[in-house]
Amino acid sequence: MATPAGAATAARPVHTAPTPLEPVLTHTGEELAAVLGSLTGTRALVMTMGSLHEGHLSLVREAQARADHVVVSIYVNPLQFGPGEDFEAYPRDLEADLALLARAGVDVVFAPSDAEMYPTRPLVRIDPGPVATVLEGRTRPGHFAGVLQVVAKVLNLVRPDLTVFGEKDAQQLALVRTLVRDLDLGVEIVGVPIRREADGLAMSSRNAYLSPGERASALALVGALRAGADAADRGSEAVLTAARAVLEAADGVALDYVALVDPKTFLPLDDGAHTGPGLLAVAARVGSTRLIDNLTVQLGPRHP
Ligand code: AMP
Repeated sequence: MATPAGAATAARPVHTAPTPLEPVLTHTGEELAAVLGSLTGTRALVMTMGSLHEGHLSLVREAQARADHVVVSIYVNPLQFGPGEDFEAYPRDLEADLALLARAGVDVVFAPSDAEMYPTRPLVRIDPGPVATVLEGRTRPGHFAGVLQVVAKVLNLVRPDLTVFGEKDAQQLALVRTLVRDLDLGVEIVGVPIRREADGLAMSSRNAYLSPGERASALALVGALRAGADAADRGSEAVLTAARAVLEAADGVALDYVALVDPKTFLPLDDGAHTGPGLLAVAARVGSTRLIDNLTVQLGPRHP
């Protein structure tokens, strides 16, 4: 039987969610320059190695809140990996990344090849200075020189008004700030807090390597940071002792370092009398996966 027009049974209009606009995908500096030339307004850059998760997306959202356009770079930079590290194994999934970035409303993606980024072996290198010799820099010699090389290159290619980095890589963030200050790169640097899973594990592309058992063991990193924070009113030694105890008691966790440093200089805060903020940083291997995490603790007597 035909349904009279306008009757209650008439088909309702179908409401579909608006299809997100795909970001413009560029692979070369030339393609990128053409797209950037067509944009007006301010732009923010988020640099990543891909295999994107909520942590990266929080950087994207911060960038979107601060600029008219957002460029996300996706590049696994060989220069920052040492021999025997996971450069080849590092998870890569450009299609999944693009789908996430489309949903997030990102305008432009820059995903260059190695040949595009390093057509010849770079001869002019950046010396990242003393902060790059401790913690991550001590375990991974050359890592920060490689990071700053690619950061400088991508900043020059994108020429953003601001760029957003995660506090997850606190030492990297400090070094990028120094790079921009010392070389007058004229870009605003914005830091974004660490995004964690519900159980506290810091989000990381490398978490994908973890087996379920290793995933459980990996909670020792955040557990150590929280135990350290709880001891902060008793001074730096108490912080380090509490953090170390958690890591040493954990199964399947090989500690690289746990350190309490000045958040700006990265000099150790081993003076028991120190008060104020300290960066408690940890690195450990869980199975074959190297993980890092950090937390700012307030040293000294608690004020009610
Ligand atoms: P990556 O792809 O690991 O090189 O990270 C790209 C950017 O995302 C860096 O600025 C990281 O510090 C940041 N990032 C990675 N994981 C997190 C996280 N869990 N929370 C906040 N920022 C993050």
